[in-house]
Amino acid sequence: KFKRGLAKTKSVLKTDVRDLFKSEGRLIDDGFLDEMRALLFKTDMGYDSVEEIVAEVAKNFRGRVVTLEDVVATWKDKLSELMAQDASPISFAQNGPTVIMVAGVNGAGKTTSIAKLSKMFVDEGRKVVLGAGDTFRAAAVEQLTIWSDRLGVDIVKEPQGTHPATVAYKAVERAVETSADVCIVDTAGRLQTQKNLMAELTKIQQSIRKLIPAAPHEVLLVLDATTGQNGISQAGKFTEAVDCTGIVLAKLDGTAKGGVVVAIRQQVGLPVKYIGVGEQPEDLALFKPAEFVDALFA
Ligand code: GDP
Repeated sequence: KFKRGLAKTKSVLKTDVRDLFKSEGRLIDDGFLDEMRALLFKTDMGYDSVEEIVAEVAKNFRGRVVTLEDVVATWKDKLSELMAQDASPISFAQNGPTVIMVAGVNGAGKTTSIAKLSKMFVDEGRKVVLGAGDTFRAAAVEQLTIWSDRLGVDIVKEPQGTHPATVAYKAVERAVETSADVCIVDTAGRLQTQKNLMAELTKIQQSIRKLIPAAPHEVLLVLDATTGQNGISQAGKFTEAVDCTGIVLAKLDGTAKGGVVVAIRQQVGLPVKYIGVGEQPEDLALFKPAEFVDALFA
């Protein structure tokens, strides 16, 4: 799955890396470092990350003739250091249902990611209840209903325009009543004003806590990997509005700029928990930084 997610990125990188090392070895000088900098920039890993990697390669090899393997080893080490996280799966509640709130702008891949998470939980033998909290978009509720039918999971929905907090409350209530293991609560992805977003997400949290004080156990922010820096600035709006616990990075398969994972990790500061690598429910992978770094430059 990982490989599929990075296929586009790798096809671009491979050619560039080959161009960088046409001969067996290369002298590491300013010319090389500039070419290398340009190559890394193309992956969208962000200015700071690129400069740190360039500085490390310069420190290790400047003035020497080295091989591609030497340089790639330094890239990988530095990238792992920059990621500064381990795999970060869902942390489940000790007792009662684990409540997962899912936020993100419309179109980011929120509904699909909820379906993917549901499938993962169902495959693990967990009982899932969905809360169709994006009540401003009839299409979102419809889409989630289709997924719930396909995946055979329970869904709580209310008429359009009902406050998302009401849906969240009822979904958690249903999860408790039916002894479900996981309750995934969708939220509206409107970003009209920061104040509204904050008020809405806070209200959802409060209504969930009336039933389970320690909930939500996870607040996942879905970001679209294909939007690069734009996605990162959107992330800021959400992390200011609510305490997010991690990121689901959707559509990693749709971009040739897979380095964006590094930029997100660096700039948003949340762990990247899962990556989306396609449109089907099974197209979700736990994000493993070491595997990611290996796959990128394999
Ligand atoms: P929402 O508006 O945030 O709920 O977004 P959706 O879940 O409806 O997704 C928007 C579009 O992106 C749909 O066409 C999805 O099939 C597509 N999509 C979502 N996640 C992925 C992914 O990981 N990879 C690919 N290739 N497409 C995705």
